[in-house]
Amino acid sequence: MKEKKRLLICIFSTIMLISALNITADATISKPLKGLNTYIEDANHGNKVIYLTFDDGPSDPITGKVLDILKENNVKATFFVIGNQIPGLEDVLQRTHKEGHSIGLHTYTHKFKRIYSSSDNLVKEMNLCQAEINNVVGVSPNIIRFPGGSKKHLNYNLLNRLHSSNFKIYDWNMETLDGINPKLSPYKIYKDATNNSENLSTIVLLLHCDYMHKNTCLALPKIIKYYKDHGYKFQPITNDTPELYFPIKKSN
Ligand SMILES: [Zn+2]
Repeated sequence: MKEKKRLLICIFSTIMLISALNITADATISKPLKGLNTYIEDANHGNKVIYLTFDDGPSDPITGKVLDILKENNVKATFFVIGNQIPGLEDVLQRTHKEGHSIGLHTYTHKFKRIYSSSDNLVKEMNLCQAEINNVVGVSPNIIRFPGGSKKHLNYNLLNRLHSSNFKIYDWNMETLDGINPKLSPYKIYKDATNNSENLSTIVLLLHCDYMHKNTCLALPKIIKYYKDHGYKFQPITNDTPELYFPIKKSN
């Protein structure tokens, strides 16, 4: 009986741990999904293009370190920022903008319970984030990334709602698991960021630049070198870039 109880506790703890990871982390898939809506790929006509994307900033000093590396390598990227992290780090956001990178919306609070409680709340969170960015750098980006990705959240009603607010959605087709585990070794981050990339002409790579992502910084120069050596052009996502999002739930 004791054994059974212990087993039940163990199963329950595992389920709780998995749920907690899903709630807080961004990366939930490890392979490109079948049925991914890759309008972005069509627009690049088979040319090799990579969009480096960094979620969960701005932070100090990691976002600055990422910017240093991008500058040294003359590469432009996209930063999906969390609105309530901007106060106090306005200089980091201004530098990001000034150095030619794109800034996108990643909600105001990144709190899953709040942002995914209703479509209204999600749109409100994006609008708040947009206003915060506009206050600091004077631009109002329309490019958005759902925290954790749009999978499980995006349905046709929400898609129409977001499109009617002029938002454009960007998930990813390559990822490292640095969002789930910031302590992942730089080697593992590099491997995840480059493995199986040969099948993809357009790559949207998910990385993170929150304060914990020191190892992502250590892996970044090698990731950039790999894609340069393989003939990829680095581009930031802009308001004109066609979307890329995971398959939409059919039930709605
Ligand atoms: Zn995030």
